[in-house]
Amino acid sequence: KNQNGNYTVTFIEGDGIGPEISKSVKDIFAAAKTPIEWESVDVTPILKDGKTTIPDEAISSVKKNLVALKGPLATPIGKGHVSLNLTLRRTFNLFANVRPCRSIAGYKTAYDDVDTILIRENTEGEYSGIEHEVVEGVVQSIKLITREASERVLRFAFQHAEAIGQKEVRAVHKATIMKMSDGLFLSTAKEVAKDFPHIRFSAELLDNMTTNPNLYRDILLVMPNLYGDILSDMCAGLIGGLGLTPSGNIGDECSIFEAVHGSAPDIAGMDLANPTALLLSSVMMLQHMGLNSHADKIQKAIFDTLAEGRALTKDLGGSSTRSQFTQAVVSRL
Ligand code: NAD
Repeated sequence: KNQNGNYTVTFIEGDGIGPEISKSVKDIFAAAKTPIEWESVDVTPILKDGKTTIPDEAISSVKKNLVALKGPLATPIGKGHVSLNLTLRRTFNLFANVRPCRSIAGYKTAYDDVDTILIRENTEGEYSGIEHEVVEGVVQSIKLITREASERVLRFAFQHAEAIGQKEVRAVHKATIMKMSDGLFLSTAKEVAKDFPHIRFSAELLDNMTTNPNLYRDILLVMPNLYGDILSDMCAGLIGGLGLTPSGNIGDECSIFEAVHGSAPDIAGMDLANPTALLLSSVMMLQHMGLNSHADKIQKAIFDTLAEGRALTKDLGGSSTRSQFTQAVVSRL
């Protein structure tokens, strides 16, 4: 809390549609009189020791405020550029990526009642970025799995299930083939589960998770990094696309909340983006901060606007602009 009695939160608006959807969040938070003061920081990459990285002011702002909301960051293509998203996750050791995915009333898809929280290990696996060329035409990419990182995210998954009253945790793996790496993740899951006897534990092969939408009802899923990346996008597809899915990157100290989607360069600057995913990320952020009544109020306004269906953006089959959708939410506050 700052001297005004409000909470200061770091805001990284991001690239592409980032500034537009960030404006929606700011307008809606102002209308809802949420006790948040934004500290906007620029994360335009700088060169440090020959590598692109995030400016120090951005790092120190997140360190100071402990909580940040972030728009999408475009990953520069080419040699020597590291993904800024990965840099942020590593800098703040954001070991768990929490991605809720629930059917939205008013937006009909082929699958009703999707209700999943997917937790993705956020620091290792194929994303460790350990790759090299063995000889010309042969490259090697190393999937790194440690008991320590597995246990940390699994324990977090069970604790999160406990906190939200979810009765079943399911570990997703491919230990039939990745016998050692996924095998270690799975055996660690079985060990951690013993500490939570009141929560049901199950394990499911990744393959089965891609063929059966019924496996996404009333469940908390936890899995290694790459599987989480892919399954969460698929989950988004089950409920209506990337415009709708929020996420939280959780660490021991800091947390950064962001939409699952990227900077959508194809629609940037056109006032067409659906701000719901970033808005629901900001709702997760408020819940994380214990500001539940503020979170509920904003979430209700968003869900009611979607359910009414009069101000839907193009990705949801509507014809409203981002500004019109935002205004519709504001008018409910
Ligand atoms: P993307 O998520 O930006 O876009 C995929 C498709 O979904 C596009 O057709 C886009 O128009 C649509 N879409 C995404 N968000 C939408 C929204 N809110 N409303 C309406 N439509 C939306 O994925 P991409 O095109 O593969 O990536 C673009 C850039 O974003 C890349 O540089 C990538 O590295 C980066 N990226 C960043 C993050 C992040 O910051 N966490 C995540 C993914 C991708």
